[in-house]
Amino acid sequence: MNFSTANIITFGCRLNACESDLIKDFAKELGIVDFTLINTCAVTDEAERKLRQTIRRLYGENPNVKIILTGCASELHPDRYIKMDGVAGIISNKTKLSKSEYLKYASNVSVSATSGRRKVRGFLQIQNGCDQKCTYCIVRLTRGNNVSFSKDEIVNQAKRLLNKGYKEIILTGVNISSYGKDLDPKQNLAFIVRYILNCIPELTRLGLSSLDPADVDDDLINLIGSEEKLLPHIHESVQSGDNMILKRMMRRHNREQVIEINEKILSLRPDVVFGADIIVGFPTETDEMFKNTKRFLEEARLSRLHIFPFSKRPGTAASLMPNVEKKIALARARELKTMADDIFLKKLSEQIGKNLTILAEDQINAKTNSFLPARSLEKLTVGKEYLFRCEYVDKKAIIGRPIEER
Ligand code: SF4
Repeated sequence: MNFSTANIITFGCRLNACESDLIKDFAKELGIVDFTLINTCAVTDEAERKLRQTIRRLYGENPNVKIILTGCASELHPDRYIKMDGVAGIISNKTKLSKSEYLKYASNVSVSATSGRRKVRGFLQIQNGCDQKCTYCIVRLTRGNNVSFSKDEIVNQAKRLLNKGYKEIILTGVNISSYGKDLDPKQNLAFIVRYILNCIPELTRLGLSSLDPADVDDDLINLIGSEEKLLPHIHESVQSGDNMILKRMMRRHNREQVIEINEKILSLRPDVVFGADIIVGFPTETDEMFKNTKRFLEEARLSRLHIFPFSKRPGTAASLMPNVEKKIALARARELKTMADDIFLKKLSEQIGKNLTILAEDQINAKTNSFLPARSLEKLTVGKEYLFRCEYVDKKAIIGRPIEER
């Protein structure tokens, strides 16, 4: 670990990754050294266990370490973490992006740029917080209500990312589908996507992070169907394929709506690949309900699944509901994961013989526009787009050669 420069460790979601990137910039600007910041996550027990392990490891490696915590876990349990050896302070989620918070850690030593990797994909935060009350979710307790950023602030940040060399921008937030609901006049996600693309014609690759199906309206569906600069990869926070469980989660969609949305999108743009988050072993989930989720994966044409066994978070409504035994939840997660791996392999195999556009992440690895991993048999240049021929696949990626630079 290098303690001569600001060291930032990130747990959790893309939003945290995006915020860590900005904090890294502050640290560089302010000349901060001997500073270790952990941007924490509280989404599961496991995330917090790994956090405690990391703090103990850092302190074990260097008892003089000054660890600053920010993010959802330290927001939720400040008393628990401030007592740990090595932890020097906590910055609240609300002020983690205000540069002045970091001034007290500044020194006169100037820090050179620390990033060794070429930048390919930048994350752009367009809102924070969430107004929904999903019964399993701890994040809304740590990040407050939906606050949308102004369109001009967003465009400036997008330009900043392009100037830093990023080739692709992914819009991110706690719940980006609620973008604009708090603005006067009200706006929506489709509006900000159009606004960014109109203001920055040189931006040719714009992606969306997780969408709440309840907020996917026809405006957004038509935009995905018609705007080529919008990448054909849609990730939905679906969570279950059983309507009763969705109700108990207090989600606002049902399985039929997701199936319909995805069919509509595919009819307009057949190359879209759908991903989703799924929680199994949610309180009261029976075998029958779990079977509904299994059937749903194919019915909703989902190909990239993030599967989580339910993790009880104190303070949430779901933590008071009748539990599914842990070993049953874990077995269901394993079963669904095996099924998801087969579906993913099928999706990869469909690409054999096709010519696809890829963006190189290093000399070998790339992603297709629909975010499928690709591995090249010939050297790629980082950050370049290629037309790529898929020759065969393995379980993880499509494999082939670049045909031409784009
Ligand atoms: S939509 Fe639900 S799961 Fe997502 S952040 Fe809001 S409350 Fe949490």
